[in-house]
Amino acid sequence: MASKKPLIVKLGGSVITDKKRPFTIRKRELARLSRELSGSRYPLIVVHGGGSFGHPVAAKYQLEQGYKHPAQRIGITLTRLAMNRLNTAVVYSLYSAGLPAVSIQPSACMTLDNGKIKTANLSPIKKMLKLEMVPVLYGDVVFDEMRGVGILSGDQLVSYLARRLAARRVIVGVDVNGVYTSNPKLDKNARLLPLITPSTWKELSFGFDEKTKDVTGGMGYKIEELLKLAKAGIESEIVNALKPGTIHQLVTGKKGLGTIIRGK
Ligand code: ADP
Repeated sequence: MASKKPLIVKLGGSVITDKKRPFTIRKRELARLSRELSGSRYPLIVVHGGGSFGHPVAAKYQLEQGYKHPAQRIGITLTRLAMNRLNTAVVYSLYSAGLPAVSIQPSACMTLDNGKIKTANLSPIKKMLKLEMVPVLYGDVVFDEMRGVGILSGDQLVSYLARRLAARRVIVGVDVNGVYTSNPKLDKNARLLPLITPSTWKELSFGFDEKTKDVTGGMGYKIEELLKLAKAGIESEIVNALKPGTIHQLVTGKKGLGTIIRGK
């Protein structure tokens, strides 16, 4: 069965949730995105972020700093519960659009070491892809060899999965049109960058970007992860998933709608 390379699509927490309102899903956006994804020409892996579900809880219990005291344990439970709720909504929405989506809990099949993925059992995902199912993963609170516990971001996850599963391409959906010379929400003069490569990234001196840093690091961190992929020969593109039709165009083979990140 399917020997076609998978396309990995990340739906940012800023896209599928309202980051300003705790535990709020953008239901209409999620339903629209699910319909757009259902038109994919390629096998899909979907990864989503934590948005107003995982992030505030993980931040409250300072889980990104590792395991420091027993009171954090209940925070781990609460973060997992919050992510399960959001993930169930995403999987149900994909199912409602006709996709054979199945949840994969990262913290049950992966471990970290000092914040980076150390072990991962990808066999279930590979088997699902063979059956042309759609695995759905998410940023999660994951156990960490050195720190006890840590946050695995959806962005690190897509970069890792894309390398290990030899993805065709990676699409990262956010709430702005791509990567700009500075944060477009704060700077009217910010310019959209159509292409980032390892050498152009070195020249870009824009201050990425304490203000938008969440527990997993914001836009600068995303680019660092995607550049690792670019160096491994896998191209990615950061696009505005809130703009209707964009994700549909990308899953049917279009390119160049946002910021492409590639090796050269
Ligand atoms: P998500 O949670 O959806 O993965 P993030 O909130 O981590 O997304 O990153 C997207 C946000 O990054 C945008 O909403 C934007 O405000 C911010 N941002 C900061 N700097 C930049 C930049 N140079 N170009 C584009 N977006 C930026």
